[in-house]
Amino acid sequence: MSAQSPSALTKTLREFCAGLLDEGRVDVVVGFGRGTLPLRSTPVFARNPDDASRLIFDATCENNLSVFVPKLKDKRIAVVAKGCDSRWLNQYILERQTEGERLYVIGVRCQGVIDRKKLDAYLGSRRLLEGRLEEIRGQGECGEGLEGEGAGGTGGVEGAGGVKGAEGVEGARPGPGVSVSDGHIKWHLEGNDAEGRPWAASLDFEDLLSDSCKVCVKKGPVYADVVIGENGETVKGNGETAKGPEREPSFDDVKEVEGASIEERWKAFRSEVSKCIRCYACRQACPGCYCKECFVDRSAPRWIGGSDDETDTMVFHLMRAMHLAGRCVDCGACVRACPMGVDLGLLNRKLQKDGWVLFHHIAGFEREGKPLFGTFLPDDPNDFIL
Ligand code: SF4
Ligand code: SF4
Ligand code: SF4
Repeated sequence: MSAQSPSALTKTLREFCAGLLDEGRVDVVVGFGRGTLPLRSTPVFARNPDDASRLIFDATCENNLSVFVPKLKDKRIAVVAKGCDSRWLNQYILERQTEGERLYVIGVRCQGVIDRKKLDAYLGSRRLLEGRLEEIRGQGECGEGLEGEGAGGTGGVEGAGGVKGAEGVEGARPGPGVSVSDGHIKWHLEGNDAEGRPWAASLDFEDLLSDSCKVCVKKGPVYADVVIGENGETVKGNGETAKGPEREPSFDDVKEVEGASIEERWKAFRSEVSKCIRCYACRQACPGCYCKECFVDRSAPRWIGGSDDETDTMVFHLMRAMHLAGRCVDCGACVRACPMGVDLGLLNRKLQKDGWVLFHHIAGFEREGKPLFGTFLPDDPNDFIL
């Protein structure tokens, strides 16, 4: 199996960050590095130019790295920021959790990140030994023209003796592929099945795409000191934040649930929450959960018990959602972090929809002013209180 050579973006990212650290412009670069498992990345804290050689950027870079900013107080930090990471960097400034001068934002245009749970569901009992992202440019519909791509493309996969074990995989491939720029993106996967027989397959990028990325309103950074493009080009930021989303937010999933009866919604919520084991991985992954002491951990007063009692668990999720109202950027990091497959996104997106419909507000686009919940007018309707 061949190791994947770094992309043009990754090469430029490493050189650029090595330069930043060498010149002493920042104390640490927070970025992504290759994880120990295939198709996994891990946060990297580069503190000297040599560390910068560990940096990567691709669709496995799923964490929202802004989560580390409050933990690195008093440091000058450079952050490798996708659209959603950069929105939380803005939000921290808006919420007075950091100063803009302390941050150096290295923007990367994101094509979306994969959801590991979708990959696990796809793999079933098969082991994954290697996964590669391949971009096929200048083709027609995804899947066309892949036959002739040679060893790295589908042609190589179909010619491999061990592919027989992957018949079910081919059959499970849903829908058309996503078109990015003038190309299509495919995942090439290789591994062993439960009996140790090798298999290989390729599937469309969108099959593994995180749900948040499918409705993302800003894939590029909303603010950046520099932007590194997919071909490795660098563009200096102009010191301004983006005026607003790239596209109108869509809330079809929320509208569908809103159309159900209260009883059906309650049942669905209970069913979702019943999966939760209160591990708090969602809270730890979320940049918005930066309270020194979370209400669930407080003993005086004790708001809720520490077990996975259904009522306590519901209170945790409802209160967490309310704490994130007007702040959640729909990065999906909490959903991807959850080991139990709890769909937290719907609740958060319901509050995003209300913020959008009622106030035309969408989080992460402002560095100055007041957060949505810190804003009021004296003549705001208050009949819901009395
Ligand atoms: S939500 Fe948008 S910016 Fe964030 S990872 Fe997905 S596509 Fe990229
Ligand atoms: S609640 Fe989830 S989707 Fe929203 S900002 Fe936090 S991690 Fe991202
Ligand atoms: S990560 Fe999942 S299981 Fe853990 S507390 Fe959050 S919702 Fe519950």
